[in-house]
Amino acid sequence: MITIKTGAEIEKMHVSGQMLHKVLTALKAEIREGITTNQLDKMAEDMIRSMGATPSFKGYHGFPYTICASVDEQVVHGFSNDKPLKSGQLLSIDCGLVYDGWQADSAFSVGVGKVSREVQKLMDVTEECFWKAVEVIKPGNRLGDIGQAIQAHAEAHGYGVVRDLCGHGIGREMHEDPNVPNYGKAGHGIRLREGMTIAVEPMIAMGSYKVRVLDDGWTVVTCDGSFCSHYEHTIAITDKGAKILTLPEASA
Ligand code: MG
Ligand code: MG
Repeated sequence: MITIKTGAEIEKMHVSGQMLHKVLTALKAEIREGITTNQLDKMAEDMIRSMGATPSFKGYHGFPYTICASVDEQVVHGFSNDKPLKSGQLLSIDCGLVYDGWQADSAFSVGVGKVSREVQKLMDVTEECFWKAVEVIKPGNRLGDIGQAIQAHAEAHGYGVVRDLCGHGIGREMHEDPNVPNYGKAGHGIRLREGMTIAVEPMIAMGSYKVRVLDDGWTVVTCDGSFCSHYEHTIAITDKGAKILTLPEASA
């Protein structure tokens, strides 16, 4: 069931979203060669709790960490660990929190130290895919418009669009209806309505879109070992279009 949020509820989600933006900005500033993802995970948890919020991933179906830290060919849901990050790695951080009963969910990918031009381009195009989706998010358009916008841009660069995982509705629950696939056909799927709140999160692979889950039961990797990038924000659909709840107003 898709839950439609009131303006007041969207304002509350915006408060959660701004908190999460602060956490992710602080994490991004710490990412460098030598730091471990366990350090980043602890930093995220401490910061979220100090704001009076709760990490929403930790304990979710048994997930053990505050952040998902996914490196290189890891797509999403990677476990943080004590291995120092190395220059040239692609690190995706996904994080969620809940404040006053309202969820926020956001992810970014960044190069550690110096990354190859190819890896930088993959990350750039993944972010561009997100913004292509934002352009078509408005009441009356359809879910397939979002998927098509992402897929067309990624495939124009020869990349694979991960299909086994997708964006989602979000609100009081981290994962609500509808699923928001990163592929699809324009003009198809349910209509977008004012008051819907969704997480849009392209996961784009340098090679094939096929993925599998590691033996830890969580970490998703590309089958061909190619690098993968992830970028996500929580969005409210308003009469004017997409309001990005996990970015400061000026940049949304
Ligand atoms: Mg996420
Ligand atoms: Mg999400």
